[in-house]
Amino acid sequence: MIKVKKFVVNPLQENSYVISDETGQCIFVDPGFYFDVEKEEIKNYISENRLTPVMIANTHCHFDHIMGVEFLREEYSIPFYAHEEDAFWVEKSIEQAEMFGFEMKPVNPIDSFYADNKPLKFGDSEFKIIHVPGHSPGHVVFYAENSGELIAGDVLFYGSIGRTDLPGGDYNTLISGIKNKLFNLPDETKVYCGHGPETTLGFEKSSNPFLT
Ligand SMILES: [Zn+2]
Repeated sequence: MIKVKKFVVNPLQENSYVISDETGQCIFVDPGFYFDVEKEEIKNYISENRLTPVMIANTHCHFDHIMGVEFLREEYSIPFYAHEEDAFWVEKSIEQAEMFGFEMKPVNPIDSFYADNKPLKFGDSEFKIIHVPGHSPGHVVFYAENSGELIAGDVLFYGSIGRTDLPGGDYNTLISGIKNKLFNLPDETKVYCGHGPETTLGFEKSSNPFLT
């Protein structure tokens, strides 16, 4: 069984996740840890739960989702995985952060790109990686079929969807991606979002104003 732990971090109130299983291995998804107090909190969580981090796996590479990447790489000597089509966002992160009024340190390039049709694995757990562009060109979501959980990044929010006005974004691509690649999964699938509270696919299917 996977355990999903959420940390709400940085000035953009981004959701960073630590996903672990009974083996004690864990992965960081979209680590946005920015302030020192946030970095202390995550280090304590890892040590108190005796977890072994094995990788950083991002849904996409907007600056608020990668602010903690370099700190975790150094702390745990782990690789940073993301989709190739979001590599340019890593390079643009300082510039993009400045546009939002924040300073951030440079993030080194992605270590490994997701491979087509290859699942994301750690411990005894496995996620299907589904490419859902539109919010960013290399945006992926992670689907745990066994437990019915979806890590959706900024594709889908409670009652909303990700913005599509940033470089590489496209509204119609995002809408069709959600409808064709996510809404065919079971209604009871629990959705962990990149910002805000959790939801389910069934709830969004029936009530999300962008998708009904
Ligand atoms: Zn984003």
